[in-house]
Amino acid sequence: MYRTNTCGELRISDKGKTVTLAGWVQRVRKLGGMTFVDLRDRYGITQLAFDEAKNKELSDQAQKLGREYVIQVTGLVEERASKNSKIPTGDVEIIASELNILNTSDVPPFTIEDETDGGDDLRMKYRYLDLRRNAVRRNLELRNQLTFLVRDFLVKRNFIETETPCLINSTPEGARDFVVPSRMNPGEFYALPQSPQLFKQLLMVAGFDRYFQIVKCFRDEDLRADRQPEFTQIDCEMSFVKQPDVIGLFEELIKYVFSTIKSIDFNEPFLQMTWHDAMRLYGSDKPDMRFGMTFVEITDIVKNRDFNVFNTAAYVGGICAEGCASYSRKDLDALTDFVKRPQVGAAGLVYVKYNADGTFKSSVDKFYNQDDLKAWAEKFNAKPGDLMLILSGSDVQKTQIQLGQLRLEMGDRLGLRDNTKYAPLWVVDFPMFEWDEESSRFKAMHHPFTSPKAEDLQYLESEPGRVRADAYDFVLNGVEVGGGSVRIHDRNLQSRVFKAIGLTEEEANSKFGWLLTAFKYGAPPHAGLAFGLDRMVSLLAGLDSIRDCIAFPKNNAGRDVMISAPSVIDQSQLDELCISLNVPEKDK
Ligand code: ASP
Repeated sequence: MYRTNTCGELRISDKGKTVTLAGWVQRVRKLGGMTFVDLRDRYGITQLAFDEAKNKELSDQAQKLGREYVIQVTGLVEERASKNSKIPTGDVEIIASELNILNTSDVPPFTIEDETDGGDDLRMKYRYLDLRRNAVRRNLELRNQLTFLVRDFLVKRNFIETETPCLINSTPEGARDFVVPSRMNPGEFYALPQSPQLFKQLLMVAGFDRYFQIVKCFRDEDLRADRQPEFTQIDCEMSFVKQPDVIGLFEELIKYVFSTIKSIDFNEPFLQMTWHDAMRLYGSDKPDMRFGMTFVEITDIVKNRDFNVFNTAAYVGGICAEGCASYSRKDLDALTDFVKRPQVGAAGLVYVKYNADGTFKSSVDKFYNQDDLKAWAEKFNAKPGDLMLILSGSDVQKTQIQLGQLRLEMGDRLGLRDNTKYAPLWVVDFPMFEWDEESSRFKAMHHPFTSPKAEDLQYLESEPGRVRADAYDFVLNGVEVGGGSVRIHDRNLQSRVFKAIGLTEEEANSKFGWLLTAFKYGAPPHAGLAFGLDRMVSLLAGLDSIRDCIAFPKNNAGRDVMISAPSVIDQSQLDELCISLNVPEKDK
């Protein structure tokens, strides 16, 4: 037997037992005639003690152990003279009588401790060492707990976990596909799934009724902290359900997960908000509901003065930051710089301070008198001591999005985005289409298999921009954690939607003929959704990034720096695939 116990297991009640442990050397300390070794494995750390007076040879051997050596030790469990209350095994130590070095280790490139000295790149390059650290390992344990709970919950409710293929054709979810050349079909390519969307719908046609899959999805997008080229979804689909059934069941799942993992009980139903209200009040389709600061529109009360910026604006609105009237010139300049950043793109920021003495001081005092500003303050429901921050623009939605970014910035500055708090929200009634400037056509906002709202069907051909969809997103703390929709199950309606996004009948048939055919054979009404597993874990772990919730993530350039992927392939492989490369000089 390699070991009788793990390094996280022994307690004072085990005193007197002879045990064998195996693990990694965290630390070696010499104190007089005693040598102490912290032995670590996944479960914890146990102190080993080597007494020079009792066994000089063994003690010499222990002193020579290097960090991260793998050893096996047998000894007696003893009560420690100086206890360590910080670790569960801190009352005991093992008085070693046998030591076996199972493997040596080079000095690791960074310290394998909670506070490591390793930078991001180094940690990624030696990810297997990083994974030995508590912080990262705990996230993966949490991930395992979550997937276990999800499977348990869904299987108990008749969901069948079904695998769908990875080598498919492109599914139009809006991102670029990763493609895989087919050796047996020269010149032809598979695409890796952006999601199993159409396969899960076919499973509904097949009568599976309730499907789920914890599944890898692939999207060739520009990466950010919360994006990876390959990520995992909890993908679900149900037959004979409507939107409230799907929302109801998955809300129950989320509540179950939070109650079990975090001991947080959401007693009320989750808030639901239309997409239109989310944009109007928060300037985002994924509002962070941990704090208020909702928008107040003042477009119609700011006109007819000499301030042209407001006179010509289609939207003037702002937020009220409580108690911030004391902001200094420097603070206000910083906020102005923030909204002018290219990522935000506003032309400028107007502020109005509601001073404690009831007077107003604003950046537009030249154009508006105290009565004007008082009227604004009433709209904002502002009190003396508050600060109103106002943006304006010619495009309503763009201005709302800018104001939404300012709202989040203020939330951060005021410490209102506390990672230990959770504010869930369903955003519903998304527009069916959005205008794509680049291709000058409407695109499906969710995907083209989403059902338009019955009452908006009349506008499908005449005013696509007005059609709302039976689509819903689950948003937690300003993060889109899940999304789904009621699907089209009627062949004719599917054809109409394809047409609305500019697909000719021929194109629709060549791309999705098989789906349209399937819909001829008794497709049931169905609906579903998918959660981003990585994002869910990061939120449960209170992290901003999903990277440390994934065992082997890619960096921001989409590279795995440990195995150095992607990489060039041999000419012979290219020849076999009938591929010739045309890499621009600058990328070589
Ligand atoms: N396939 C969709 C997505 O990946 C989710 C869904 O509609 O179920 O966003």
